Amino acid sequence: MRRRITVFGATGSIGENTIDLLTRQGGPESYDVVALSGGRNIARLAEQARDLQADLAVTAYPECYDDLKAALAGSGVEAAAGPEALVEAADRPSDWIMSSIVGAAGLVPGMRALKHGTTLALANKESLVTAGPLLLATAEQHKTRILPVDSEHSAVFQALVGEDIDAVERVVITASGGAFRDWPIEDLEKATPEQASSHPNWAMGQRITVDSASMFNKALELIETKEYFGIAPEKIDAVVHPESMIHALVGFRDGALMAHLGAPDMRHAIGYALNWPDRADLPVARLDLVELGQLNFRAACETRWPALRLAREVMAAGGLTGAAFNASKEAALDAFLGRQIKFTQMSQVVEAVLEALSRDGGLTNTEISLENVLHVDHLAREEAARVVATLEH
Ligand code: NDP
Ligand code: MG
Repeated sequence: MRRRITVFGATGSIGENTIDLLTRQGGPESYDVVALSGGRNIARLAEQARDLQADLAVTAYPECYDDLKAALAGSGVEAAAGPEALVEAADRPSDWIMSSIVGAAGLVPGMRALKHGTTLALANKESLVTAGPLLLATAEQHKTRILPVDSEHSAVFQALVGEDIDAVERVVITASGGAFRDWPIEDLEKATPEQASSHPNWAMGQRITVDSASMFNKALELIETKEYFGIAPEKIDAVVHPESMIHALVGFRDGALMAHLGAPDMRHAIGYALNWPDRADLPVARLDLVELGQLNFRAACETRWPALRLAREVMAAGGLTGAAFNASKEAALDAFLGRQIKFTQMSQVVEAVLEALSRDGGLTNTEISLENVLHVDHLAREEAARVVATLEH
């Protein structure tokens, strides 16, 4: 049966890798592409939609509608724009949806897709961090699945095939350490957005690349592990592994430690989710262990990377703390990229926002509904803007 496919965030790094795999696996000969979404890269979105003969192309920005419409003229692809159009795209019947919008903006379309019983391939880790219990309950209620696409979580997912989750003693996710892993700690406050935007091992979007340098990405992933697999926080750890060849390890109660190895190429995790439960021949490099020679590991230091300590606090608190954490992190990242705050001040902003919003149980006494998640997201961004204004740069 031909599968109906939708890709949210098609013009991004994960999106492009997804389009590449869909194209290699036959493109419009093999799939019915229902909808593709992008942001400001209209020329590329239109090109993808034409190549894959999509029914619909959506830009997240209303002001880009005319350009998209013009770029699609004569193609037969429908154009639409704005957040509501993204939701409408999620309403169109699909069998498999890639959720690869960056940031909390990915939550609403993903939730909507789950309500239609669509399989959700989830790169957008922010969805799980902000609204994990809600997302999983929605998937269960509508008898569908969320397939992890983050490389570490895909690795854990694969290591768990055929295993009993109760036999899991620990999960270790690896971190490259990002751009500044070898910098002296005292130099970190001078780090510029340009320096933070280059990753030693992975080619990714700018925001996640900077989040790798600050370890906010790993912090999000620790929370994502807890939420997705339902594993107790004390059983989850991150370790620095500069080569990025092992993506995660799962330890079982008999002492066995199963590692997932692969070249740092997101097409592996995307391809696994696309072909699950089968395995397809994927265009990823095969590891030559002898050439690799050795793999290294170091402790992930919470003094160097306070984001990891904050993740522990978020996991312990639960409730809507993840929504406040993610939104304040996004606001702090914007402030750093806009040169309003220093690299090291991002974690200070997040910590101050968490402290302010969690007073009187404000983040844990409330039900995790979509409305409440979006409300906390909004409050956290407002509070972050206040904190940013008080900081000296
Ligand atoms: P990119 O920045 O490369 O791409 C983001 C995509 O979302 C683009 O299509 C962009 O459009 C679109 N977009 C941006 N802002 C909005 C918005 N407000 N509303 C709707 N669409 C928007 O990000 P990545 O591909 O790197 O990351 C995507 C997600 O996958 C993130 O959640 C990230 O954490 C996760 N992830 C990424 C990995 C990677 O290797 N890149 C690895 C693991 C997880 P346009 O570019 O046209 O403006
Ligand atoms: Mg990852």
